Amino acid sequence: MRYEGTVYRPPSEAASLIIQLTIGCARNTCRFCYMYKSKNFRIRPFEEILEDLEAARKRYPRGIRRIFLADGDALIVKTETLLKLLERIRELFPEVERVSAYGAPGDILDKSVQELARLREAGLTLIYMGIESGNDEVLARMEKGVTSREIIQAGLRLKEARMQSSVTLISGLGDRDLLAPHALDSARVISVIKPEYVSFLTLMADPQSPLFEDISSGRFELPGPEEVIREMRLFLENTDSEGTVFRANHASNYINLAGSLNRDTPRMLAELDEAARNGAFKPEEWRGL
Ligand code: SF4
Repeated sequence: MRYEGTVYRPPSEAASLIIQLTIGCARNTCRFCYMYKSKNFRIRPFEEILEDLEAARKRYPRGIRRIFLADGDALIVKTETLLKLLERIRELFPEVERVSAYGAPGDILDKSVQELARLREAGLTLIYMGIESGNDEVLARMEKGVTSREIIQAGLRLKEARMQSSVTLISGLGDRDLLAPHALDSARVISVIKPEYVSFLTLMADPQSPLFEDISSGRFELPGPEEVIREMRLFLENTDSEGTVFRANHASNYINLAGSLNRDTPRMLAELDEAARNGAFKPEEWRGL
């Protein structure tokens, strides 16, 4: 098995076998993102990926339950290639219960419902879609290269193909001036898509990200914990997505929240209020990406 550069994966894939299908991110424009800035995007040769799968099987003769296809956007790979890969995964790892990958909204929309359904039947059952915000102004400022309308279309397409989706948003991404629109439009998008999972990180600027320069020069102001809690309150109060598993328990978050929408929303709102009353936030030095 070979890995090129730093390999990123969602927290819930900590125990998964990770196979790099692509190197880097095809877009690489998002101002807050530092993950693939040093990598030139390319799709790895298919033979190389097969060799990695075979090497992994030799190294781990049993017990591979989950496989995560890295790097940034495995869904950019042609459907027929992905199907061949999933077939080989089934042959080599019959015990695998789930294959997942990051999927950018644009690449999801480049595939038809039928293509996505074939991929799901072949074992790719979960897509992590980093949408970051449901507000078009925030998305444009962050050079995300996608609109809230496209995000909704991509989320609904996954749903139609009966592929699960895990959507990530970023608290604080609206700067101070777009705090409320960021929260309310994100709530609107989630209420329409109703994904299986929603999680929040809280914005921290890595020195390698273009946003770091924006903050250093005063063009962007990182919201503090009280503002982030106000924003989260607005999001939760306005989101209607019954049964969605909600998590804001990443190292970057000022307070940890976890529950099932909408059932646990009142309890999570009460936890936010208590944290705001007592100033019980994670100290800056404990936060991380
Ligand atoms: S956030 Fe996702 S799409 Fe944007 S640059 Fe990073 S990996 Fe690429």
